[in-house]
Amino acid sequence: MWGYQSEELQQCRLSDLVHAEERKAVEQAMLSLQRNAPCETSHVTLQARFLRKGGQPVPTLLRARWSESDKTYYCVAHEVSRHEPVWGRHPATQADEAHERLRSLFEYHPDGVFAFNLEGALIAANPAFSALTGYAHDELLSMRYQTLVSPESRKMAKERFIAASKGHASSFESAGLRKDGTRYDAALTAIPMMVGSRIVGVHGIARDITQLKSRERYIERLATHDSLTGLPNRNLLDDRIKHAVVQAERSGRRVAVLFIDLNRFKVVNDSLGHDKGDILLCIIADRLRQCVREADTVARIGGDEFAIVLEEVSMPESVITIAKHVLAAIERPVRLEGHQLVVSGSVGCSLFPKDGSDAAALLHNADLAMYEAKAAGGGALRLYKADMDERAKSRLTHEHDLRRALEQDELVVYYQPRVDISSKAIVGAEALVRWIHPERGLVPPNEFIPLAEEIGLISQLGEWVLMQACKQNRSWQKAGLPPLKVSVNLSPLQLDPDSTITEAVMQALERTGLDAKWLELEITETSLMQNVESTLTKLEEIRNAGVSISIDDFGTGYSSLSYLRRLPVNGLKIDQSFIRDITASRDDEAIVAATIALAHTMNLTVVAEGVTTEEQIRFLHANECDEVQGFLFGAAVPPEELGQLLMQAPHSRRTVH
Ligand code: C2E
Ligand code: MG
Ligand code: MG
Repeated sequence: MWGYQSEELQQCRLSDLVHAEERKAVEQAMLSLQRNAPCETSHVTLQARFLRKGGQPVPTLLRARWSESDKTYYCVAHEVSRHEPVWGRHPATQADEAHERLRSLFEYHPDGVFAFNLEGALIAANPAFSALTGYAHDELLSMRYQTLVSPESRKMAKERFIAASKGHASSFESAGLRKDGTRYDAALTAIPMMVGSRIVGVHGIARDITQLKSRERYIERLATHDSLTGLPNRNLLDDRIKHAVVQAERSGRRVAVLFIDLNRFKVVNDSLGHDKGDILLCIIADRLRQCVREADTVARIGGDEFAIVLEEVSMPESVITIAKHVLAAIERPVRLEGHQLVVSGSVGCSLFPKDGSDAAALLHNADLAMYEAKAAGGGALRLYKADMDERAKSRLTHEHDLRRALEQDELVVYYQPRVDISSKAIVGAEALVRWIHPERGLVPPNEFIPLAEEIGLISQLGEWVLMQACKQNRSWQKAGLPPLKVSVNLSPLQLDPDSTITEAVMQALERTGLDAKWLELEITETSLMQNVESTLTKLEEIRNAGVSISIDDFGTGYSSLSYLRRLPVNGLKIDQSFIRDITASRDDEAIVAATIALAHTMNLTVVAEGVTTEEQIRFLHANECDEVQGFLFGAAVPPEELGQLLMQAPHSRRTVH
């Protein structure tokens, strides 16, 4: 158009091509275009005199776009000398003027304006449309719409243009295709082109809404996906379940919802830091995705909670297989910066239509089932059953009740005597907590200790028992009764790395003035197997202060006697299940006898629990068991009653026989 070879043009600056008088205006327009980027309307249409190679001015319409990502101006220049309106030129007639007014609307419209004839060929396009599509004006003419529209939008675009050719204007969104093959999102309007009462073609207006759409998509993604793992979030999960339910209603198949919770994730977070915790979550998210088909949904619904929706399930058994894969995938060790981590999951599952008819019910019931799986320990799977609902409700009531119990002194401590096997003197007492419930009466600890552990009340409860036991023991001593050792049970959770048990023990001794040698703590084998390092440190500290430590329910866990040698413990209590059958079962006799013998070689005191018959006493005596505890000598009783027992017994040999 300007008479240059393209190589020559490549040496030119834009301003070299513009008439000196208009250079400044053009430069300013271009600069402000760049400054306003990235905004939707980063287009400018201007008219200026450009210069032909010989210096002859050419009135030119320039449509320019600034691309922030390419740092490039894209321009389409269009000579307007003869047919187009040019400033300073006066139209000859009124009709000409009206025509030119309309024409300028067409030419300068910042949106792409174009027209098709009834055969579907393009017959007019403004500079903005050239800039939008990347085709020169001449290339555009006689082009068909298919070339300009992305394949997935073709059908709809065709329908709309046909409707317009029949007199129905409409606006719609579609995807456009540029000359270089790139796509853009377009807002399109198709308008019938009327001449007299005849429709002769279709006008179209196209606006580039790519940025708007990508922002929309981004916001939608934020609203429906978890930003850490990229998995669908709770909102999208609900939608997917709804959708799956509708499908299943038609096909008669089932939908399974799996609720997955990681066990002890908090420990990873607390000990290795949140960034490592985040990495672990992402790794688990990937593994979960690999366990299911493309059509199934894996979502993250909370901190360490995930859900999976399995669509079109034909056999309920297949859900169990997948759930087991899920559990196995979670348990595969993870290496995180030199740390080898193993976490486990708990999975609860509900099935449509059996366990609920909508997303809320299915998720809720899968959650209840997960809750029971968790209670069963790491790596468990539970299918929802109707009675879980009831249990959850009563758990809630109990939870509320238990908090109240602690606040309103509904808990009491009973004491069960522990007797020296030879002298039959009471040498100790085990503190056993009871709940005097206003409606349920006396509630045994097995019915509320697990709940207290679950809802994070166990430390408070345990420390309260500890304080009561020390206080009580001290007041027996003050009353002149000969001293005895009171033992207090510790929950494994009380030995967690962040527990305050050491401080609580020291405080109880200090506040009550009880000598440490009259206090004993009972811990279970399981608590010794968890957090070995921090547990050992805590126990050593406590034992160094003079408090004894014994292993409760010995034989029901996994610790070996040789392992015990390395632990700071003073004694062990053989679980009542072994004692119960010693006179009937040869195996149990052998186990008990061997345990006592080995414990003695390690200087551990042995207490037999649950002794109820003289026969058992004889066997235990013959095998040199040190102390016994059981209904034969008395169940756990309120402190006053134990006080009575102690008082009745002769001072030197406080027997209960
Ligand atoms: P444990 O520490 O093994 O306590 C012994 C349990 O056996 C007590 O039940 C006791 O009443 C019962 N028992 C004693 N002699 C006999 C007998 O001859 N035959 C039978 N069948 N049972 C006998 P209890 O008081 O119901 O306590 C149950 C468990 O609750 C305790 O087992 C202990 O693990 C836990 N517990 C009790 N109090 C506390 C507490 O303050 N803190 C914690 N963390 N746990 C506690
Ligand atoms: Mg005990
Ligand atoms: Mg026990």
